[in-house]
Amino acid sequence: MLEPVDMIFFGAHPDDIELSCGATIAKAVKDGLRVGIIELTRGELGTRGTPKIRRREALKAAGILGARFREQLDFGDGGIRTGRDEEMQIVAAVRRCKPKVVFTMWPDDRHPDHIRTGQIVAQASFLSGLRALETDLPAHRPQVTIYYPQNYLVTPSFVVDVTKTWKTKMRAIAAFKSQFHNPKSKEPPTFIADKKFLEMIEARGRHFGALIGVEYGEAFMTKQPPKVDDIIAAYEGREP
Ligand SMILES: [Zn+2]
Repeated sequence: MLEPVDMIFFGAHPDDIELSCGATIAKAVKDGLRVGIIELTRGELGTRGTPKIRRREALKAAGILGARFREQLDFGDGGIRTGRDEEMQIVAAVRRCKPKVVFTMWPDDRHPDHIRTGQIVAQASFLSGLRALETDLPAHRPQVTIYYPQNYLVTPSFVVDVTKTWKTKMRAIAAFKSQFHNPKSKEPPTFIADKKFLEMIEARGRHFGALIGVEYGEAFMTKQPPKVDDIIAAYEGREP
């Protein structure tokens, strides 16, 4: 059930959010913030698992991260619809949850659903702030839309130190038993089910962490730079 939160994370498919920003969610929750998760599809085109199994796994993962809710929309896996009706469903969610920050996928990625998710969420978050666009809820515009990368490498606008919650992220990813490496699974092999995929996620966390002088990091992009208060603190830890 949707409820007011400080941050909403939008993804295209169940597990997109965990892979790119699971540790940031766990950190935000640990810091006392209220976080919600919404994915735009049920993941019905996945090679492994079924929408029902994936929904169960997604709820388990959300519990591990500490999210207040995880909602699933049904815009169509493999061909996310981005018409007025879909846009207004996101407007309704943003107005109901009144987040300060909205996260979505970087709208230049390998999967067309990721591109569309990045675009429709950013556009709907803006529309949500238009008072003249009347719905049954008052207008609300988040402070910012922040993007997260998935497949393509993009220069981050900032990196979050997630060293303390990296293990929680990996536990949340492991909750998607049907999708990722599971030696006991009898399902067909896929790119993401290969052991190497999780090793790549680990390496990516290490790589982004190394950029800011910590063990693990998650990267984000914004169209406008973040405000920095303490330049020395922002660059601490890079040099011994
Ligand atoms: Zn995806």
